[in-house]
Amino acid sequence: MKKILFVIIAILAIDLNAQENFQSEQKWSNGIIRGHEDLTRFGVEMANLAIGIEFYPTIAIGDHGFNTINPLLRGNYSSDVPNLVLCRYYQLEQAACTLQYWQQNSHLQNIHSLRNYANKQVETFDESLQAIRSLVQTNTAYALEFFYQNDLENFYFWIGHVLHTLQDSYSPAHTQRESQANNYRIKDICTYGKKFPNVCYHQFLGKSDYIWMIKWGCLSGRKFDCLSEEAKAAANATAAYLTLIYNFINSTSALEFEWQQKKLRQMLEKYLNTTIYR
Ligand SMILES: [Zn+2]
Repeated sequence: MKKILFVIIAILAIDLNAQENFQSEQKWSNGIIRGHEDLTRFGVEMANLAIGIEFYPTIAIGDHGFNTINPLLRGNYSSDVPNLVLCRYYQLEQAACTLQYWQQNSHLQNIHSLRNYANKQVETFDESLQAIRSLVQTNTAYALEFFYQNDLENFYFWIGHVLHTLQDSYSPAHTQRESQANNYRIKDICTYGKKFPNVCYHQFLGKSDYIWMIKWGCLSGRKFDCLSEEAKAAANATAAYLTLIYNFINSTSALEFEWQQKKLRQMLEKYLNTTIYR
């Protein structure tokens, strides 16, 4: 009897859990907050598997950027909800370090793989692509400086920040890409906050920012197979980036880092050319 009761309670618990998960995912369906945690979780899992050790701190299912202690997730989350460290880095005054100012700032859109703009001028497609690529380069080099100073907390934080930019580039709300058959080649990069002619536009709380397929069997559990096609590509790109960074570190000592920056740039260029921004 006790056993049956236990089974019933267990089933009830699973069901309640499923509902709660589904609701919380719907609530964060803008993806910019909820989606990144799971994309990073899959990316870390795949990268650690490829590397053969737990080099990147594993992310638990349900871990949330809002209250996580995982530095990868904190760096990723702060890219949407800024902290003082990021504001200082991007030369924002403390008074301007608010959610609204950060997300609407026309000069900080590249962080989300969107086009920067100034008043009536918007970056051209090529300018935007180039600016986002160099942001990834600069921020990766910055992250690695912390690694070679034995500051792992900050290293993971800044790697998490770069992951945010890479992952956002797969959101159909941020960019328009060709199909999987055409390797998701980028066709357009959108703006947010201000519309421009002939440039795609990211709606406030765009529905296409949602990373999960809504279908039977995918209402809970947060399984890889339940990710949308773009989200799968984003998780794979996350894993590829993390593996690349590990490979660089593994073949470069602290003494070599300064003069191996060129090698890092070339490795990243190749990565950005083949998978992410082209
Ligand atoms: Zn973002």
